[in-house]
Amino acid sequence: MDNTSSLETHIFWDRFLKSIEERVNDQSFNTWFKPLGLVELSDERLVISVPQSYHSSWLEEHYMPIIKSAAMKLVDNDINIQFLVNEQVPSPEIDTPPIREINNSVPEILNESSKFFFEEHIINQRFNFDSFVIGNSNQFAHAAAKAVAESPGTTAFNPLVIYGGVGLGKTHILQAIANHCLASAKSNGDPYRLIYVSSEKFTMDFIMSIQNNLTTQYSHYYRSADLLLVDDIQFFNNKERTQEEFFHIFNALHQSGKQIVLTMDRPPSQLKGLADRLINRFQWGLVTDIQPPDFETRMAILKKKAEADGVVIDNRIFSYIAENIKSNIRELEGALIRLLAYSSLRGEDISLEMAGQVLGDTFTKKPSIITIEFVQKTVSEYFSLSPDMIMSNSRRKEVAVARHIAMHLCKRLTDSSLKTIGLHFGGRDHSTVIHSLRTVENKYLNDPVLSKHIETLVDKAKTS
Ligand code: ADP
Ligand code: MG
Repeated sequence: MDNTSSLETHIFWDRFLKSIEERVNDQSFNTWFKPLGLVELSDERLVISVPQSYHSSWLEEHYMPIIKSAAMKLVDNDINIQFLVNEQVPSPEIDTPPIREINNSVPEILNESSKFFFEEHIINQRFNFDSFVIGNSNQFAHAAAKAVAESPGTTAFNPLVIYGGVGLGKTHILQAIANHCLASAKSNGDPYRLIYVSSEKFTMDFIMSIQNNLTTQYSHYYRSADLLLVDDIQFFNNKERTQEEFFHIFNALHQSGKQIVLTMDRPPSQLKGLADRLINRFQWGLVTDIQPPDFETRMAILKKKAEADGVVIDNRIFSYIAENIKSNIRELEGALIRLLAYSSLRGEDISLEMAGQVLGDTFTKKPSIITIEFVQKTVSEYFSLSPDMIMSNSRRKEVAVARHIAMHLCKRLTDSSLKTIGLHFGGRDHSTVIHSLRTVENKYLNDPVLSKHIETLVDKAKTS
């Protein structure tokens, strides 16, 4: 540990956790803060270990202001927070360079003020094109963003405007453009100036520059961008002077062929409290939307996320989540992360039952956990037989038919292996099970009466 004795760091960590404990509820503290460890503390940075990479994303997204203020209170200094996934493996999210590191040609006039404007312009490396799942809902926005990222300023898409509801990937796609351009600039060794900013930050900077007589520096700073990305433009509403300032910056950049990319929560024409001339500018290039994802895209996003975290999860759990959360990808991911956290705290594998327990309260649909016993009961009741009969060796036609159908449903509705199914049907071996499954597939499903019975039974099992 640099700069500090181990006793001091010990005290620091203790107080740091206490101060967070006062500000979050018990459950959040136990889930998200208890498992953390102190790796390094210096004047400039605090490195914290986390058990899993999703843990750091969750902290970054939900608790960063609390973490930062707790640390800053103790060290009396602006401190850079980083997370390390346990085992000292650097997680991809950490070490995100603040913009100033790539601005290798900051004009003189900016130097004194840059410390104000550069602050917090941080781009999350997790938001890149590789981690973005493409579906019907976002393919145009994705294609346009990719084109702009590959040749900023030279396509007809200037500005590129992406609009859509909350949690649908606007910030992700905007930062993917930033990451892509930063990487190309770095590999070409270009002194590329990229500015990513939320419209709130843009506004705050402007107010601050007025207070401190830095308006000239402010305008120089933004006009010196090669690529300007502004997130959530709708927050410019009713801020006339900020809009005016932005209008001039926009014109200057556009005239000199610099790329501008903007996001907003609705189409430009429906923005409220924005000057018409600004709305008009937004429509000069390409306006494209992101819609809520369809079921398949939601499934693909969940799978990709789990894969990135290195966890294997049953498909039925993905579809349970995807069926219940339809219109916000952040919530979709949040549900998966809650489940991962719960399972790692408990040291238990994720099951459908666990999913129901952890997420059920917030979901309208409960998970249908179908077991072999449940199938046997449903089928025997339906055919007015006793469950024992179905498991017996009876060769009576109606019993054999019910038994074949029950096995077929077990294969279709549970994730049991053929061997397990056989064991539950009076210890039959797996070739007998295969024989039953073939009989159903080749004969029963082609028989209008029997196939109707089978579909009714499927519905019955799924809805009870
Ligand atoms: P918005 O800015 O539109 O409110 P975000 O860009 O913050 O939404 O997205 C919310 C979360 O959903 C982020 O964690 C993001 O990575 C994820 N996400 C959104 N769209 C996709 C996608 N197509 N593929 C993968 N992850 C996505
Ligand atoms: Mg956003």
